[in-house]
Amino acid sequence: MEWRWEAMQINVAQQLRAPIGSIRDYEVSEIVDVTDDGNGSLVQGKVSLMRTDRGILVKGRLDTEVELTCSRCLSLFNRPLALNIEEEYFPTIDVVSGASLPLPDELSCFTIDEHHVLDLTEAMRQCALLAIPMKPLCGEDCAGLCPNCGHNLNQGPCNCPPQGVDPRWSELSKLNKEKGTE
Ligand SMILES: [Zn+2]
Ligand SMILES: [Zn+2]
Repeated sequence: MEWRWEAMQINVAQQLRAPIGSIRDYEVSEIVDVTDDGNGSLVQGKVSLMRTDRGILVKGRLDTEVELTCSRCLSLFNRPLALNIEEEYFPTIDVVSGASLPLPDELSCFTIDEHHVLDLTEAMRQCALLAIPMKPLCGEDCAGLCPNCGHNLNQGPCNCPPQGVDPRWSELSKLNKEKGTE
């Protein structure tokens, strides 16, 4: 199999002229601002492009790592993301006649631009948005911040007095202690 190294933008002019069902494989590798926060992440993977009756079907898996803020302790951490992409892209221009083409009535559809360039970035971003949890945690056992002084409890306890103990329980434990000394 012949692999082609590409950026996230792939010129598909030739493939649009190819018969339906023809497949081309690409290996992509590019720095992309996945989460739109100004930080670039290296995105790498393999995609398969298949000519369909309407356009080009993209299937593949891309791997990247994004920087997220923990929703509990507010610290930054890196999280790997595996993005499984499967999207159909539609041409806006007929590759043979140069005439503009109507787009299908689908709510969200990806397009191949007038230079016959298919941009994987948008599909990848959409996939990443779904893969990133709404409330990211730096770890399942993240201890969070002290509600009193804001100290990051993952770095050890703070000097605040213990909080949130039900007074009835403290009465009970006092009783138990008294019993224990009898
Ligand atoms: Zn955390
Ligand atoms: Zn504290």
